[in-house]
Amino acid sequence: MESGFISLDFPGNLESGGNDILISAFDLLLIALAFILMLVGFSRRWSVWRMGREETRSGDWAGLFMYLLGHKKILKNPRPGRAHLMLFWGFTVPLIVIILAQFGFTIPIIPARLLSLLADLLGIALLAGSLFFLFRRKASLFPLFLFFVILLTGFAAEGTRLSILHPQFTWESPLGWFVSIGLPPSPALMHLMIRLHFFTVLLFIATMPFTFNRHLIAAPLNIFYKRKNALGELKGMSLDDGPIGANTIKDFTWKQLLDAEACVSCGRCEENCPAFISGKPLSPQKVMRDISEQMASVARSGAEMSSLSILPLESRITGDEIWSCTTCMACVEHCPVFIEPMDKIIDMRRNIVMGKGLLPVEARSMMRNLEIYGDVQGKGIAHRQDWAFNREIPLFNGAGSNHDILLWVGCAGAFHERYQEVSRAMVSILKAAEIPFGILGGEERCCGDPARRLGDESLFLDLAQKNIHYLREHQVRKIVTLCPHCFNTLKNEYPRVGGLTRSGSEENIEVVHATEYVMGLIETKRISPKYPINKNITIHDACYLGRVNGVYEPPRKIVRSIPETRFKELKQHYETGFCCGGGGGGMWLHERLGRRLNTIRAEEISETEVDVVGTACPYCLTMLDDGIKTLELDKPPKVMDVVEMVAASL
Ligand code: SF4
Ligand code: SF4
Repeated sequence: MESGFISLDFPGNLESGGNDILISAFDLLLIALAFILMLVGFSRRWSVWRMGREETRSGDWAGLFMYLLGHKKILKNPRPGRAHLMLFWGFTVPLIVIILAQFGFTIPIIPARLLSLLADLLGIALLAGSLFFLFRRKASLFPLFLFFVILLTGFAAEGTRLSILHPQFTWESPLGWFVSIGLPPSPALMHLMIRLHFFTVLLFIATMPFTFNRHLIAAPLNIFYKRKNALGELKGMSLDDGPIGANTIKDFTWKQLLDAEACVSCGRCEENCPAFISGKPLSPQKVMRDISEQMASVARSGAEMSSLSILPLESRITGDEIWSCTTCMACVEHCPVFIEPMDKIIDMRRNIVMGKGLLPVEARSMMRNLEIYGDVQGKGIAHRQDWAFNREIPLFNGAGSNHDILLWVGCAGAFHERYQEVSRAMVSILKAAEIPFGILGGEERCCGDPARRLGDESLFLDLAQKNIHYLREHQVRKIVTLCPHCFNTLKNEYPRVGGLTRSGSEENIEVVHATEYVMGLIETKRISPKYPINKNITIHDACYLGRVNGVYEPPRKIVRSIPETRFKELKQHYETGFCCGGGGGGMWLHERLGRRLNTIRAEEISETEVDVVGTACPYCLTMLDDGIKTLELDKPPKVMDVVEMVAASL
């Protein structure tokens, strides 16, 4: 101390320099044993993760660092988020200090005292955080209890030490001083607390892989390997070799198994899952738990996965669960550690549909229509332009043509009677803005989204390849889609299937949604909505436009650009928007269990007291229209696509 420097030690052992408690050879043996147990446990878990199928992922150090630093995604749920932040920093800073102390670091007295103060304050944070989780997470009591004992014994040791050395208040150890008030100045008690603290830390380390605490390793690893491609791109599958989808846990990839390992059972996916909320048997949290429990039984047995008769997933996860998913991605959006329950569900669907031929009966005619006619209604390519009536709508006629954009009409825009009105509204906007555009007409087929999300990858690939062929052949540069599902598939999934580039060019074809495009036309004054719509209007966020592709603002900006509109937000909007129930093949599945999603959303809309609900998706428009009708309101709000609103105002 006289030199103005002291060695780093924790907790705040400024005078003693930490030399009063010596580690014996027996202690070293115990430390080694704890670490060996931990390593054996983790290597067993590791061998289970690594037995999954191959998947290429690259790590992201910067992403992991930023995540840990700010806890941004965890803080989206403020109370547990803040508690976790306190736990994390309360644990990490002292750990760093202890590690540095082992290397004999010395620092000047003032920073050392400030560090001691910080450690004390973090100790309070750590205590508050662990108390919060101790009451909230009864399922992981043992590891939290250990954590709590480590804390209490640490404080007691520090308090006793201060009652011996510093009976007066010291600003650098306020908590330690407070604890010391009630403790006798007994060296024996201090040593007892230090020993208890030491043994509990060892127990904590040794049991880490076998308890909830394995997330301390698995969760950061999962964040490190989080996806870098677009959220809306479904993981592909090989049709040539390997199992078809997932029948058992060994059919998942190593990353999918790591996902299950990293799950901290926080329940955020479940709280936001529309299927769960509506009383259906699906809980994404349970799906992850079922997978991780099967993994745990393999890890326990220590046997090779391939030599085990692992139970099929359907022994725990039922068809009703699997078919309740609307692929809305709320679970993915809200998971604090980037777990993706939905891709496991899709892999199970693939196994049911392609491996076992057990597609739900009600969706079979739609899939047959896709196979034979290339559209969901089975009308065929000869009728793809019927929606235009006698309007002159140019066909996209290839290289050298002067079309700025290709208008991708989609099955709903071409064949669904109500949605045909939206296609015609879009045409009137493009004509008013004098945009040279064309359509594919009979060359356009379903983008393949319903087939893919219902588990028929081969049908999806067939449709995608046919569409990509014409897009490339016609040298399309920019596509505007009406439907967010077409938008997502063309933008995020086609590049992986066949490369969405023009023939002879490396340049990607640009894909935008109609709301983005129309907003651009308004902002550049190519069109100016002028006739007022004197109504209270809200926007229902389509999952595949908003949550999946981040297009939240354009529909709102469009509504605000129309004179005399009064805009109101629904309670659940942006990333908490509630699914209409039509995605993931939901349009063609019977919602037999729980409440209907469109009714739940319609109730929320009616409570918001608006005249018009604006949508930007054919599924949402149809589902909400039906949902509102079932409420039999005296003054039901009208459901309109925002494109129709603009056309009405021009
Ligand atoms: S994708 Fe949506 S419906 Fe499916 S499990 Fe996740 S939250 Fe539930
Ligand atoms: S999957 Fe994610 S959100 Fe769901 S319980 Fe596990 S950690 Fe929480």
